[in-house]
Formats: sequence, structure tokens, C-alpha cells
Amino acid sequence: MDHTKKHIAILGSTGSIGTQALEVIEAHPGSFQVEVLTAQNNADLLIEQAKKFNPNAVVIGNEDAYLKVKDALLPLNIKVFAGENALESVVQMDTIDLVLTALVGYSGLKPTLKAIGAGKSIALANKETLVVAGELVTQLAKSKGVNIFPVDSEHSAIFQCLAGEFHNPIEKIILTASGGPFRGMKREELIKVTKAQALKHPNWTMGAKVTIDSASLMNKGLEVIEAKWLFGLQTEQVEVVVHPQSIVHSLIQFEDGSIKAQLGLPDMRLPIQFAMSYPARLKSDFPRFDFTNFPALTFEKPDMETFRNLALAFDALARGGNMPCVLNAANEVAVAEFLKDRIGFLEMSDVVERCLAKMNYVASPTLEDYVSTDKETRIKAKDLIN
Ligand code: MG
Repeated sequence: MDHTKKHIAILGSTGSIGTQALEVIEAHPGSFQVEVLTAQNNADLLIEQAKKFNPNAVVIGNEDAYLKVKDALLPLNIKVFAGENALESVVQMDTIDLVLTALVGYSGLKPTLKAIGAGKSIALANKETLVVAGELVTQLAKSKGVNIFPVDSEHSAIFQCLAGEFHNPIEKIILTASGGPFRGMKREELIKVTKAQALKHPNWTMGAKVTIDSASLMNKGLEVIEAKWLFGLQTEQVEVVVHPQSIVHSLIQFEDGSIKAQLGLPDMRLPIQFAMSYPARLKSDFPRFDFTNFPALTFEKPDMETFRNLALAFDALARGGNMPCVLNAANEVAVAEFLKDRIGFLEMSDVVERCLAKMNYVASPTLEDYVSTDKETRIKAKDLIN
């Protein structure tokens, strides 16, 4: 094994974050080695990636595609596994240094816990893992001495501002939000918006789930919860400001009143690369930001009465226990149903709000409690929709 390179497992290598991570790795062959690639359904792209990056092992989540992947990779001597359990065991392989978790939604929780349990550093792109079970995940990471490096651009910004300041208390953090494609709209207009409109984010190119969450401001709500756990904050220490240009990626205010911000063009490859290369900054050819192209950087208060998801997320976080897990599960169902044209844009918040009101509260959930909360909330959300 080559110890001069970081050996990386990418969970969700065929998605938006996964493919951009492979671009970063391809640009820095001396710094990184791909150890594991995993995909849920996209067998063709997984095979193509494996042929190019020659990992030790791949996992295809959908077991129906196992033989296809296995046959294609047989001549290359790459280990091929299938199914959910395979994901949980492959992250523990001795040869892995860092696991990039780029899975979508709740599915990221168990593999991330297994990777932390095995002492692997985590580059966390799957914010839902911390939303669902932030306390459990961060406590396990602490007890194992494992670092969780944020990939989410806002959290990467906070992390970059913290460099050299780790012993200085944070007064508050300010997460920026683009406001999404429907910024400025009121409820009567939002009733009519379509899936196609919601999928067109003004600044960022991302997967479908996070793009819909951005349009509904649920993404910012999930990021508030993610930030609380990543940086050990109280709910009142997290603030959201709408910044439509997406240039200031987030800010920290310290106890002397000084504010630090991190800026750049909206390009996910930068936070992905920093999470993988930390503490080093690797030279990149990403497009550079030029102030003269952005003469006005503007900031405004989020409209939480119209975009209720953000208020619901703050409420769920303040209540604590299993409520953020309820919020996440109800939202995952609501987004999936919206993407199938089965509910309208505003109804997504209705589903989340009603699940938060109806599910039983568990103050100090165990992993089993989270698993059952997730399952029961999904049933409840589907009942409410049908
Ligand atoms: Mg983000």
C-alpha cells in the first residue's frame, strides 16, 4: 500500500458529489488513490468509473445489477459486492483512510456509523446523517477520535474560517442561503410552481433531492441542524441570511464581535477537495472569483412564513430528541412524492408539519429508536398523502 496517498472510499460515486470528487482525484493522482466506489443503481457508470480508477472493491446497492458489474470487472481483479450490508462492511476495510459519504438521505446513516466505528476519517456530504442522529454520530466520532470534515459548502466555509481559531469560542455562525428559484414569491404563487421550475437552481448544480430541498428552504433547515452538531452549537447560535449571489459561503462571529467569511464562486469541487486534502490546500484550476463581476453582494432576511420548512427545522431542533429524525423522514417522503407529481410544492411543508405534530417524542433516542422513528414517520407521511 502506498502511504504517500490518501486512500479514499466514495459512497455514492455516480451522483453529483461522487462524480465531482472523482474529477478532483483525477486532477491530483499523486495525492489520492480510489479504494472503494459504490452506487445504488447506476451500474453502467460504476463500471466505467471502476475501469478508470481501478479501486480495490466496488459495491452495487441494487442486487439485480450484481452479475452485470461482476462480469464487467472480472478481468480487472476488482472485488464486487452487492446490497446494503455490503456497504456497511466494505467501509471498514483496512486499506481505507477516508470515507466520502455522498449517499442521498437517511441511507447514509448506518454506513457512516460503521466507518466511524472502524476509525475512518469522514468527508461528510450526506447532511441527513447528522440531521437524523447528530448526537449519536458526533459522540461516536469523539470517542473514536475520528474527524468529520464537512463537504457541504456552508459548513466547509465555517470550517475554513475556524482554521487557527479552534480554541476561540464561537458567538454565532451565519449560514448563507441563495433563496432558491422561488425567492420573493408568496404562497399564492408557490401553489402553482412545477417540479421542472423547482429543479432549476439559480447558482448550484446538484442532485434532485437537494435541489428540491433548496427551493423549499428545507435544505437550509437541514444545514442548521447539521451545523449545530458539526460545530457543537446551541440552536440560538445559528442564524440564516439569504444571499442570492452564493459568493459568501457562510460566516462566523467570534466573541470579540469580529466576523470571518469564506468566499468563492459556487463550485462544489472546492469544498470536496478541501475535505479530502485537509489540512493542505491543493493547487486547482477551478475558475477564480472576480469582485468586478459581482459589484453587489446582497443580504436579506429569510421569509420563514412563506417557506415554512426553515421554521419547522428550527422547531424540530429546539425540541430535540427524535424530532429532527421525524422532520427528515417526512421530508424525504414529501420530496419523493413531489417529484412524482403526487403533491404540490406547499404540501411538502404540510406533510412535515403534521408528522412533527403526530409522532411520539423520544428524548434520548438509541440507534434502534432512530430506525423505528424513521420507518414509522415514512408510513405516517404516506398515509397523510394518500
Ligand atoms: Mg449546502
